[in-house]
Amino acid sequence: MCLLFIAACVEFLKRQAASLDLPVEVIYPVNQQNPVVVLKWQGSQPDLPSIILNSHTDVVPVFEEKWTHSPFSADLDAEGRIFARGSQDMKCVGTQYLGAVRALKATGYQPKRTIYLTYVPDEEVGGHLGMREMVKSDYFKKLNVGFSFDEGISSEDDTYALYYAERTLWRKYTLENGITDCSNLQFILLLYIPPQISVLSSVELLVTDLCCCPIRLARS
Ligand SMILES: [Zn+2]
Repeated sequence: MCLLFIAACVEFLKRQAASLDLPVEVIYPVNQQNPVVVLKWQGSQPDLPSIILNSHTDVVPVFEEKWTHSPFSADLDAEGRIFARGSQDMKCVGTQYLGAVRALKATGYQPKRTIYLTYVPDEEVGGHLGMREMVKSDYFKKLNVGFSFDEGISSEDDTYALYYAERTLWRKYTLENGITDCSNLQFILLLYIPPQISVLSSVELLVTDLCCCPIRLARS
Protein backbone atom coordinates (compact mmCIF):
# COMPACT_ATOMS: atom_id res chain seq x y z
CA MET A 1 0.00 0.00 0.00
CA CYS A 2 1.17 3.53 -0.70
CA LEU A 3 3.10 4.97 2.22
CA LEU A 4 1.13 8.17 1.84
CA PHE A 5 -2.15 6.35 2.49
CA ILE A 6 -0.64 4.52 5.45
CA ALA A 7 0.61 7.75 7.00
CA ALA A 8 -2.78 9.40 6.43
CA CYS A 9 -4.51 6.46 8.12
CA VAL A 10 -2.21 6.65 11.14
CA GLU A 11 -2.67 10.41 11.37
CA PHE A 12 -6.46 10.03 11.19
CA LEU A 13 -6.42 7.59 14.10
CA LYS A 14 -4.06 9.85 16.07
CA ARG A 15 -6.50 12.73 15.61
CA GLN A 16 -9.32 10.48 16.82
CA ALA A 17 -7.30 9.54 19.88
CA ALA A 18 -6.56 13.20 20.59
CA SER A 19 -10.22 14.13 20.29
CA LEU A 20 -11.10 11.32 22.72
CA ASP A 21 -8.26 12.28 25.06
CA LEU A 22 -6.82 8.77 24.79
CA PRO A 23 -3.12 7.92 24.61
CA VAL A 24 -2.09 6.34 21.33
CA GLU A 25 0.91 4.26 20.30
CA VAL A 26 2.03 3.13 16.87
CA ILE A 27 3.73 -0.28 16.80
CA TYR A 28 5.65 -1.75 13.87
CA PRO A 29 5.71 -5.54 14.41
CA VAL A 30 7.47 -6.21 11.10
CA ASN A 31 8.13 -3.04 9.08
CA GLN A 32 7.26 0.60 8.58
CA GLN A 33 4.69 -0.22 5.90
CA ASN A 34 2.54 -2.11 8.39
CA PRO A 35 1.86 -0.07 11.51
CA VAL A 36 -0.48 -1.15 14.29
CA VAL A 37 -2.24 1.77 15.96
CA VAL A 38 -3.24 1.21 19.59
CA LEU A 39 -5.55 3.53 21.52
CA LYS A 40 -5.79 2.96 25.26
CA TRP A 41 -8.77 3.68 27.50
CA GLN A 42 -7.50 3.17 30.99
CA GLY A 43 -9.79 1.19 33.29
CA SER A 44 -10.44 1.97 36.93
CA GLN A 45 -8.89 -1.42 37.83
CA PRO A 46 -6.03 -1.64 35.36
CA ASP A 47 -4.57 -4.78 36.93
CA LEU A 48 -7.54 -6.79 35.61
CA PRO A 49 -7.18 -8.50 32.22
CA SER A 50 -7.92 -5.98 29.50
CA ILE A 51 -10.29 -6.00 26.52
CA ILE A 52 -9.23 -5.49 22.92
CA LEU A 53 -11.56 -4.03 20.33
CA ASN A 54 -9.76 -4.94 17.14
CA SER A 55 -10.24 -3.86 13.55
CA HIS A 56 -8.11 -3.80 10.45
CA THR A 57 -7.09 -0.93 8.23
CA ASP A 58 -6.32 -2.80 5.01
CA VAL A 59 -8.90 -3.68 2.34
CA VAL A 60 -9.31 -6.29 -0.37
CA PRO A 61 -8.30 -5.35 -3.94
CA VAL A 62 -10.32 -2.96 -6.04
CA PHE A 63 -11.53 -3.40 -9.62
CA GLU A 64 -12.28 0.21 -10.27
CA GLU A 65 -14.12 -0.33 -13.57
CA LYS A 66 -16.85 -2.17 -11.66
CA TRP A 67 -17.48 0.70 -9.29
CA THR A 68 -20.10 3.40 -9.79
CA HIS A 69 -18.06 5.78 -7.59
CA SER A 70 -14.35 6.09 -7.09
CA PRO A 71 -13.61 3.39 -4.50
CA PHE A 72 -11.41 5.56 -2.31
CA SER A 73 -13.44 8.75 -2.52
CA ALA A 74 -15.96 7.84 0.21
CA ASP A 75 -18.70 9.52 -1.83
CA LEU A 76 -21.93 10.08 0.03
CA ASP A 77 -25.06 9.92 -2.13
CA ALA A 78 -28.45 11.53 -1.63
CA GLU A 79 -29.71 8.44 0.18
CA GLY A 80 -26.93 8.63 2.72
CA ARG A 81 -24.99 5.69 1.32
CA ILE A 82 -21.20 5.82 1.50
CA PHE A 83 -19.32 4.34 -1.46
CA ALA A 84 -15.86 3.31 -0.30
CA ARG A 85 -13.78 0.16 -0.42
CA GLY A 86 -13.60 -1.10 3.14
CA SER A 87 -16.52 0.92 4.44
CA GLN A 88 -18.22 -2.33 5.46
CA ASP A 89 -15.10 -4.47 5.92
CA MET A 90 -14.31 -3.07 8.30
CA LYS A 91 -14.31 0.66 8.79
CA CYS A 92 -17.94 0.48 9.94
CA VAL A 93 -16.80 -1.47 12.99
CA GLY A 94 -13.58 0.42 13.63
CA THR A 95 -15.48 3.70 13.65
CA GLN A 96 -18.22 2.27 15.87
CA TYR A 97 -15.58 1.55 18.49
CA LEU A 98 -14.58 5.20 18.38
CA GLY A 99 -18.21 6.31 18.46
CA ALA A 100 -19.02 4.04 21.41
CA VAL A 101 -16.04 5.31 23.40
CA ARG A 102 -17.00 8.89 22.60
CA ALA A 103 -20.62 8.34 23.66
CA LEU A 104 -19.65 6.57 26.88
CA LYS A 105 -17.03 9.15 27.80
CA ALA A 106 -19.64 11.87 27.34
CA THR A 107 -21.70 10.22 30.09
CA GLY A 108 -18.72 10.15 32.46
CA TYR A 109 -18.43 6.38 32.24
CA GLN A 110 -15.09 4.75 32.89
CA PRO A 111 -14.59 1.04 32.24
CA LYS A 112 -13.39 -1.21 35.03
CA ARG A 113 -10.98 -2.94 32.68
CA THR A 114 -8.60 -1.16 30.39
CA ILE A 115 -9.83 -1.22 26.81
CA TYR A 116 -7.49 -1.16 23.84
CA LEU A 117 -8.65 -0.19 20.37
CA THR A 118 -6.27 -1.82 17.93
CA TYR A 119 -6.11 -0.99 14.22
CA VAL A 120 -4.02 -3.60 12.44
CA PRO A 121 -2.67 -3.97 8.87
CA ASP A 122 -2.46 -6.97 6.57
CA GLU A 123 -5.53 -8.77 7.93
CA GLU A 124 -7.01 -9.62 4.54
CA VAL A 125 -4.00 -11.71 3.61
CA GLY A 126 -3.37 -13.38 6.94
CA GLY A 127 -1.98 -10.76 9.31
CA HIS A 128 1.57 -11.98 8.85
CA LEU A 129 2.87 -8.42 8.88
CA GLY A 130 0.51 -7.26 11.60
CA MET A 131 -1.34 -9.01 14.39
CA ARG A 132 0.32 -12.41 13.91
CA GLU A 133 3.69 -10.95 14.83
CA MET A 134 2.36 -8.48 17.33
CA VAL A 135 0.84 -11.17 19.55
CA LYS A 136 4.31 -12.68 19.95
CA SER A 137 5.79 -9.44 21.24
CA ASP A 138 6.54 -8.35 24.79
CA TYR A 139 4.47 -5.27 24.05
CA PHE A 140 1.39 -7.43 23.49
CA LYS A 141 2.03 -9.54 26.59
CA LYS A 142 2.07 -6.38 28.68
CA LEU A 143 -1.42 -5.52 27.44
CA ASN A 144 -2.64 -8.47 29.58
CA VAL A 145 -5.53 -9.21 27.23
CA GLY A 146 -8.38 -11.27 28.64
CA PHE A 147 -10.92 -10.95 25.85
CA SER A 148 -11.18 -9.46 22.39
CA PHE A 149 -13.84 -8.41 19.96
CA ASP A 150 -13.17 -8.33 16.23
CA GLU A 151 -14.82 -8.30 12.86
CA GLY A 152 -18.36 -9.55 12.34
CA ILE A 153 -20.99 -8.74 9.76
CA SER A 154 -22.63 -5.38 9.29
CA SER A 155 -26.31 -5.01 10.06
CA GLU A 156 -29.01 -3.14 8.17
CA ASP A 157 -31.23 -2.79 11.21
CA ASP A 158 -30.90 -2.50 14.97
CA THR A 159 -29.67 -6.00 15.62
CA TYR A 160 -26.03 -6.54 16.32
CA ALA A 161 -24.59 -9.92 15.56
CA LEU A 162 -21.74 -11.42 17.51
CA TYR A 163 -19.94 -14.57 16.50
CA TYR A 164 -17.03 -16.56 17.75
CA ALA A 165 -14.00 -17.42 15.65
CA GLU A 166 -14.51 -16.70 11.93
CA ARG A 167 -18.26 -16.11 11.87
CA THR A 168 -18.87 -19.69 12.86
CA LEU A 169 -22.28 -21.21 12.27
CA TRP A 170 -24.74 -20.82 15.07
CA ARG A 171 -28.03 -22.07 16.34
CA LYS A 172 -30.52 -19.72 17.90
CA TYR A 173 -32.19 -19.86 21.30
CA THR A 174 -34.28 -17.32 23.12
CA LEU A 175 -33.40 -16.01 26.52
CA GLU A 176 -35.90 -14.14 28.63
CA ASN A 177 -35.21 -12.36 31.89
CA GLY A 178 -31.74 -13.77 32.08
CA ILE A 179 -32.90 -17.39 32.00
CA THR A 180 -30.41 -19.31 29.96
CA ASP A 181 -28.96 -22.69 29.45
CA CYS A 182 -25.74 -20.96 28.46
CA SER A 183 -24.67 -19.61 31.80
CA ASN A 184 -21.09 -19.20 30.71
CA LEU A 185 -22.06 -16.99 27.84
CA GLN A 186 -24.36 -14.87 29.95
CA PHE A 187 -21.57 -14.44 32.43
CA ILE A 188 -19.25 -13.29 29.69
CA LEU A 189 -21.75 -10.81 28.35
CA LEU A 190 -22.54 -9.34 31.74
CA LEU A 191 -18.87 -9.11 32.51
CA TYR A 192 -17.78 -7.39 29.36
CA ILE A 193 -20.71 -5.40 28.07
CA PRO A 194 -21.44 -2.54 30.42
CA PRO A 195 -25.18 -2.03 30.89
CA GLN A 196 -24.54 1.68 30.47
CA ILE A 197 -24.07 1.22 26.74
CA SER A 198 -27.38 2.73 25.74
CA VAL A 199 -27.17 1.51 22.17
CA LEU A 200 -27.68 -1.98 23.51
CA SER A 201 -30.60 -1.09 25.69
CA SER A 202 -33.29 -1.57 23.10
CA VAL A 203 -31.74 -3.98 20.69
CA GLU A 204 -31.40 -7.67 20.53
CA LEU A 205 -28.01 -9.23 20.59
CA LEU A 206 -27.39 -12.22 18.43
CA VAL A 207 -24.63 -14.02 20.13
CA THR A 208 -22.82 -17.27 20.07
CA ASP A 209 -21.20 -18.86 23.02
CA LEU A 210 -17.64 -19.97 23.16
CA CYS A 211 -18.54 -23.64 23.14
CA CYS A 212 -21.43 -24.50 20.86
CA CYS A 213 -24.48 -22.70 21.94
CA PRO A 214 -25.47 -19.65 19.91
CA ILE A 215 -28.36 -17.75 21.39
CA ARG A 216 -30.60 -14.80 20.89
CA LEU A 217 -30.48 -12.50 23.86
CA ALA A 218 -33.07 -9.81 24.39
CA ARG A 219 -32.16 -6.85 26.55
CA SER A 220 -34.66 -4.26 27.64
ZN1 LIG B 1 -12.31 -7.66 7.39
